[in-house]
Amino acid sequence: MFNPSIVKKDFPILARNINGHPLTYLDNSATTQKPQVVIDAVSNYYRQHNANINRGVHLLAEEATRAYEEAREVVADFISAQREEVVFVRNTTEALNLVAYSWGLTNIGKGDEIILTQMEHHSNIVPWQLVAQKTGATIVYLPITTEGILDTSKLASLLSPKTKIVSLTHVSNVLGTINPVKQICKQVKSFNKNIVCVVDAAQSVPHMPVSVKDLGCDFLAFSGHKLCGPMGIGVLWGKRNLLEEMPPFLGGGDMISAVYWQKTEYADLPQKFEAGTPNVAGAVGLSAAIQYLQKIGLEDISMHEKELTRYLLEKLSDFPEVTVLGPSSLENRSGLVSFVFKNVHAHDVAQVLDSVGVAVRSGQHCCMPLHTLLNVSASTRISFYLYNTNADVDQVIEGLKKVRHVFQLKK
Ligand code: PMP
Repeated sequence: MFNPSIVKKDFPILARNINGHPLTYLDNSATTQKPQVVIDAVSNYYRQHNANINRGVHLLAEEATRAYEEAREVVADFISAQREEVVFVRNTTEALNLVAYSWGLTNIGKGDEIILTQMEHHSNIVPWQLVAQKTGATIVYLPITTEGILDTSKLASLLSPKTKIVSLTHVSNVLGTINPVKQICKQVKSFNKNIVCVVDAAQSVPHMPVSVKDLGCDFLAFSGHKLCGPMGIGVLWGKRNLLEEMPPFLGGGDMISAVYWQKTEYADLPQKFEAGTPNVAGAVGLSAAIQYLQKIGLEDISMHEKELTRYLLEKLSDFPEVTVLGPSSLENRSGLVSFVFKNVHAHDVAQVLDSVGVAVRSGQHCCMPLHTLLNVSASTRISFYLYNTNADVDQVIEGLKKVRHVFQLKK
């Protein structure tokens, strides 16, 4: 098992002081910090290899193309996929929009149904609403229990001959719930193998081993910036036969094999979905980030975050004014905890925590319908990564005591 205090030294920003305190960075579900190896990989790419890819015959163009394609191999290996099935996009949001616009608008029609869950991020709701509005399809939601666990017993009653797609998050960015995606895909496929299963893996791929082969899904989306990589680079993985049948999402340079005045022949996968100059430095940085995480070990990262979550939940039990959202058992929980502090707004909690150097998120975390369902206007979220330690949790607890003091709440 790695030592998080040593890992912390790999991340220059974590040496910063915030409001007179050492930075305690606990906003990892929003974005993660970058280790020196990633900063170096991006900087080295720009210092030594930068050129536009694919179309040049000069040496730099060849080096840049090779670096970009090697990054694709690293991503493919990371999620147990084929190279051609890995499409570089900007982020999870763009990946989900690509599926919605390209597969959705082609295959979904009036009266069809799209199944989502009640714990989806806006980026796995809004694109489907756009598809539903354009096609006359309907969105139905798989409910959650009062504990914030998917009520999979309701799935059978939602599946019907009208169902075209099931799109769900692997891990909830509010509840921390780890969903049984493999079991859900299996149930969906045994009902009708043509129903397409989409997984929003924004909060799972960075924190646990994920294999697209094992999950049995058709599409999977994640963002580089949530796994120590740069912003502006993300991944859509899709099954080859589906990607081959789909029309391009964006048209332009690089995604073509031949262009005539009135029609175009498209490039093979994955270039068909990568129009225009891509984020080559981003892909290089993502590759460095993945290799860094692989060296530490995704299994160990997951266990470390679980242990931090256990420690935090134990400490929070001393605060009767704190209500934790999501499952009470650690078994199906990832390394994030959202909570409500009685009679104190989430933004006030976050502001007091910031005053002692603790960075957390407050608000609705892009999950407004879920917050409405839970009947809370906002929550405060603590989210862990490999560089967090028990001392970080202790600092949160000090901050929460200050919240109690500032707002004069008695235990
Ligand atoms: N889905 C989930 C579950 C997320 O947590 C996030 C980021 N908060 C997203 C999608 C969107 O990610 P991005 O902003 O990188 O597109």
